[in-house]
Amino acid sequence: MNIIEIKKLNKTYRTGKVEFKALDDVSVTVERGEFVAIMGPSGSGKSTLMHLMGFLDSPDSGSYIINGRETSGLSDDEYAQLRSSVIGFVFQQFHLLARESTIENIELPLIYAGNTDSNGRGLKLLKDVGLSSKENNMPNELSGGERQRVAVSRALINDPDIILADEPTGNLDSKSQTEIMELLSNLNKNGKTVIVVTHDEEVSEYAARIIKIRDGKVVSDEKKIGKNYIAPKDLDVKKENEKSTAKPVITRIEFVDYIKQAYNSILGNKMRSILSMLGILIGVAAVIAMLGVGQGAKDSIAKSLSSLGSNLLTVIPGNFHMGGVSLGTATVTRFTEQDIEALEKLPDVKYVSGTVSGRAQVVFGGKNWNTSVQGVGVNYPVMRNSVPSYGAFFTDEDMRSRNRVCLLGQTVINNLFGDANPVGREIKINRIAFKVIGVLPLKGATGFRDQDDIIILPLSTAMYRLLGKIYIDSIDVQVKDMNLMDAAEDEITQVIRKKHRITNPDDTSFQIMNMAELQKTFAQTSEAMSLLLGFIAAISLLVGGIGIMNIMLVSVTERTREIGLRKAIGAKRKDILTQFLIEAVLMTFLGGVAGIILGGLIALLISVFAKWNVEVSAVAIIGVTLFSIAVGVVFGITPARKAAELSPIDALRYE
Ligand code: ADP
Repeated sequence: MNIIEIKKLNKTYRTGKVEFKALDDVSVTVERGEFVAIMGPSGSGKSTLMHLMGFLDSPDSGSYIINGRETSGLSDDEYAQLRSSVIGFVFQQFHLLARESTIENIELPLIYAGNTDSNGRGLKLLKDVGLSSKENNMPNELSGGERQRVAVSRALINDPDIILADEPTGNLDSKSQTEIMELLSNLNKNGKTVIVVTHDEEVSEYAARIIKIRDGKVVSDEKKIGKNYIAPKDLDVKKENEKSTAKPVITRIEFVDYIKQAYNSILGNKMRSILSMLGILIGVAAVIAMLGVGQGAKDSIAKSLSSLGSNLLTVIPGNFHMGGVSLGTATVTRFTEQDIEALEKLPDVKYVSGTVSGRAQVVFGGKNWNTSVQGVGVNYPVMRNSVPSYGAFFTDEDMRSRNRVCLLGQTVINNLFGDANPVGREIKINRIAFKVIGVLPLKGATGFRDQDDIIILPLSTAMYRLLGKIYIDSIDVQVKDMNLMDAAEDEITQVIRKKHRITNPDDTSFQIMNMAELQKTFAQTSEAMSLLLGFIAAISLLVGGIGIMNIMLVSVTERTREIGLRKAIGAKRKDILTQFLIEAVLMTFLGGVAGIILGGLIALLISVFAKWNVEVSAVAIIGVTLFSIAVGVVFGITPARKAAELSPIDALRYE
């Protein structure tokens, strides 16, 4: 029964404008179980015929029937399936994967056949070729003959019907040549159809039939007398064809193998991989640190907004501009306690508190601390969310009598008292004795300033006893309702203008600030900043992606022969595509993970040394991880496609 029927096969190569007819109307039939040697001088078309028989290349015209099935016009994937299940290749150059062990090389075709388990077949084949002890050796640890024996085992792993061997002993010494030919001969005796391309008479001795080719034509086809082959019992052709048309999807075992391959390939070129991951790493680290700082700033602004108190307007002398550039005239309105009294009478105003501030040296029991002192009004605790956590605030009486009482922030307490309770104690502020009457609630740091490093005392005491000021630095006004903010602002302006006899409507000698709005502006600015920085980081990710693409293209070129081999043993386009895509993604993913760690470290350093509030959120980490995977897919797809599109024979022959 014929296993191969080839009719009028033609193949013409074109190099530039020159055409070369490598096969000219070749017709050959091979019966199941035959041992055929194809012979002829160099350049006669032997290999071309073998490649067509093995579906590594396609003919220009003619018919090729295998196992009774016409194969012309099949799709790439169907050819791959035939290479995987019907044919086992043995090449002159062995084509073992250098980074895979003996057993891994042998079992490689299983992956593409969708086989989940070799059931020890690989080991058994290895034993059959006398290499059981070399299971874990790498190809470069084997002799030429041993390598070819591994290659023969690989050809057998999917139990193909036909073994195609292209000059299998071309690179071997005569002893190894005998071993390999004995091996092929035994396979033939066990029912395999063996076709060998050779120019060596000794090799052809093993065959039972010799087809001679010259200039692309069959010139003789002789069966040797006395060398009959044992026809195997007829196979179930239908079943065979089913085997060769099955289309497995990517299985889990394949997937695991792809990851392993990608991992090996990345490890195999450590330096190169690290360098190409660097772009992604830096980009991701920048994004993580940036988002962390941005989020932290936003949070601390929100916190300080609430610590400020609500519905608050602050009246300050002079012209305030963000950025500190004042364009107004040099005259400033100086506020006094009469202004406070006048503002208190306004209909929309709830509370008013004047503020003076300065710095002072504080002493308690031999301990010194330099801190900021603030004189404020009695309503300060309600207005600024500052009800003492311990002790009490000062009273109207303290204010009237300019009593030397004060409240301490936690930082001051830590520095002067440690863990001891300060309430009731006497401290010296600028050498003047003050009684501590309360502890201020914890406010934490906002950005650069520690809000707990402060001493609060009555405005009058601060002005006349401590700081020697006769004017008030600023006046806080709490408005009754949020909707009355604008109305209150107008009222305040009018009162102050009247009291200070300001007539010019463009006067800039005092300002009313809506603190909440100011803070919001800060928040927006910092958001815009982190957006901008995020954008820059995204660009560096893009650049990193291009780096990955570049290195993947190099990798594809370098591994062209490996790709050819994989295709020859049954890999489909999608297999090669997936493999290279996974490699690119694994690279960007690893770069991303390293970047997240580095970014986290940078954020940590910023929070420790710059004392900024930094928050790296889980959302940012997950987002960035997904993004680096996406970068791998986007930039890996072109090189992966390039690899997948390679024709098996061109790839195998790539130098
Ligand atoms: P053999 O195996 O008998 O030495 P081949 O089948 O390899 O010969 O090649 C037959 C002829 O086809 C040779 O002359 C060779 O130069 C030519 N040839 C083979 N492959 C190509 C190709 N890809 N492009 C152009 N010419 C080719």
